[in-house]
Amino acid sequence: MERKNAWETYDKSQEKKVMKLAEQYRQFISAGKTERECVRLTEKMAREAGYISLEEALTSGDTLKPGDKVYAIHKKKLAVLFQIGTEPLEKGMNILGAHIDSPRLDLKQNPLYEDGEMALLDTHYYGGIKKYQWAAIPLALHGVVARKDGTVVELAIGEDPSDPVLGISDLLIHLSGEQLQKKAAVVVEGENLNIIVGSKPLKSKKDKEKKELILKALLEILKEKYEIEEEDFLSAELEAVPAGPARDFGIDRSMIMGYGQDDRICAFTSLTAQLQAENPKYTAVCLLTDKEEIGSMGATGMQSRYFENVVAEVMNLTGQYSELALRRCLQNSHMLSSDVSAAFDPNYANAFEKKNIAYLGHGMVFNKYTGSRGKSGSNDACAEYIGALRKVMDDASVNWQTAELGKVDQGGGGTIAYITANYGMDVIDSGVALLNMHSPWEVSSKADIYEAYRGYKAFQKAEWN
Ligand code: MN
Ligand code: MN
Repeated sequence: MERKNAWETYDKSQEKKVMKLAEQYRQFISAGKTERECVRLTEKMAREAGYISLEEALTSGDTLKPGDKVYAIHKKKLAVLFQIGTEPLEKGMNILGAHIDSPRLDLKQNPLYEDGEMALLDTHYYGGIKKYQWAAIPLALHGVVARKDGTVVELAIGEDPSDPVLGISDLLIHLSGEQLQKKAAVVVEGENLNIIVGSKPLKSKKDKEKKELILKALLEILKEKYEIEEEDFLSAELEAVPAGPARDFGIDRSMIMGYGQDDRICAFTSLTAQLQAENPKYTAVCLLTDKEEIGSMGATGMQSRYFENVVAEVMNLTGQYSELALRRCLQNSHMLSSDVSAAFDPNYANAFEKKNIAYLGHGMVFNKYTGSRGKSGSNDACAEYIGALRKVMDDASVNWQTAELGKVDQGGGGTIAYITANYGMDVIDSGVALLNMHSPWEVSSKADIYEAYRGYKAFQKAEWN
């Protein structure tokens, strides 16, 4: 079965739109490098599009009517947006879901130490990474430090061109004979992902204080600049991520290279489609969740009851709430659980099955199932739902393709699809294909970003039998 390269289908004006959306996306992922930063950007974009917060809706006491727009944020790390449809909520919602956490290096609770005339920060990696990819590259530190008095300091060191950057050392090639004989998984070990942050000692005159002077100097800087003490690291969420903005990729500028495209590429395109929805028939929802990369646990992960609770709140504000109506609403919903897919990589052709892999530039991806070793752990969407989606996408002339992650038994991965499927709703994995997935610098096609956005728009208008 042949599918076209999306670029071949564009005229000049469409190509302009592709480039414009890609530039907005490039700026979004350059500014949103943590789940908290993405939530903040989402809130800003939602308010500009006329959304009000759930708290404002609750305080006003007004009944939500079709066309009304409301968003909810949970613990500053998860966002849900609703535009009320003309159909009663118990007929179901059209839900766009994606995750806004990405693989990174989290600081340990007690991270700071001095060794070899340097100050370092100890980390514990978050999500699946090839550890060797994180050495010898510039890193930035983003996140929050919560003090005992309830105040919270926000940090972002390494993004402004005038900022310093941080990083993890790698052994010089001249002495790496032994290291290079090791398996790639342990060439750089997890416990050795220590970030160098300083090397200048404090000038102290008293002899007995001449201990860990580099560390002391660093703590002075932290105190002076951010008013935080060493103990404050105990209650911090600091994430080391690749430093610097996303860039156009390729001499033809057809792609984007940037950090955290898994899964902010689906989050941004879903959000953009949601913000442009106009008087949908079924309530249009965009759900941007946290913790997917570590199994969707936690209060801000998809496994928490938060989504269900917030649907109940919104339903109540429309005057339609009952326990049974809520159950019906969730079961009758349709969802695109959007996450990134692997793009065919000619350098590693052996990992893929050519008929069932996504290609860069071939448009939005639908994965009937994910999982590994015999589809294990997969949602495996219903054929009838996929049939209906084919019509939705083709009627809107969206360029789309189907894919599996790789060859049978080659590996696998999970998403949030199986969790919302627990309500009995129709869910399918969909999204955008990437090269270099989970590496510090992932690569996507601008055409695929545009097609995903168009696909999500068509989905929010879809009517089901
Ligand atoms: Mn993902
Ligand atoms: Mn991932």
